[in-house]
Amino acid sequence: MTGSSPSLRAPSWLRQALDQARAAGLPERLPAIYQQLPATTCQRRGDCCGLLPPAAPVEMLLFFDRLKEMSAGGRLALVVGLAQHFVRNAAERLACPWSRSDSCADYANRFFACRAYGLWSPEGYARRSQGAREAQARVARAWAELGVTLDPTVLAPGPDYCRATKYLATAPLDDQVLGELEERLAGLTSGLEAAGELAACGGDLSHLVARITLGPAQCLALKLAYTKAYLAGDHHQVGRVLKQVRLMARDWVLEAIRR
Ligand code: SF4
Repeated sequence: MTGSSPSLRAPSWLRQALDQARAAGLPERLPAIYQQLPATTCQRRGDCCGLLPPAAPVEMLLFFDRLKEMSAGGRLALVVGLAQHFVRNAAERLACPWSRSDSCADYANRFFACRAYGLWSPEGYARRSQGAREAQARVARAWAELGVTLDPTVLAPGPDYCRATKYLATAPLDDQVLGELEERLAGLTSGLEAAGELAACGGDLSHLVARITLGPAQCLALKLAYTKAYLAGDHHQVGRVLKQVRLMARDWVLEAIRR
């Protein structure tokens, strides 16, 4: 970390993981993998941005490096928004926090999943969708054990197969090559001591932000309180939980990232 950059104060595993990631050259190796993907264009209908996509552990980790480059206001809004996204997303179907009506707010840094969407074969995409549906079913059962029945809109499948992606100048990649790139991406963080912490979030960047800013247990307790209140129509409690999340995430930004 350079002397002119803001420093991450807490938690210590994150600071250590970022130091290890820089020493291993991960900020350079991540875009090198992205560059293996062919250039494409699409009609940008935004269907693929209707949910926060799954992120590789290295993408989640280096998100915290990018935070330091942002304006104070942008950093605050993004961290608070992601923490609230995690707390809300079992009760409401939410779009990706970077999604805008006609664009991605951080297109240059979009995730591998965004870049690869539309590059899988229809059969390969169907297999991945099936895996996502099975994961959603496990989530629904876990909530049911807590006495909460999730709304079907939250459990609805992700985006349909994309037929609008067009390759520019290069031949399509096959699923095996795409899968190997995805594995290389996943393997970038396998040697880090924080690999377990990153894996605990299951590819959900909003979960990682909530774990760090609210605490591993508290983020789950707040999510449960929010979900129950929302489904019961308890607007007062919904507002109270969101305010608590906003204040806790704000405090983390103000105290943990400082110049
Ligand atoms: S990061 Fe950008 S491209 Fe990816 S889903 Fe979100 S808005 Fe869409």
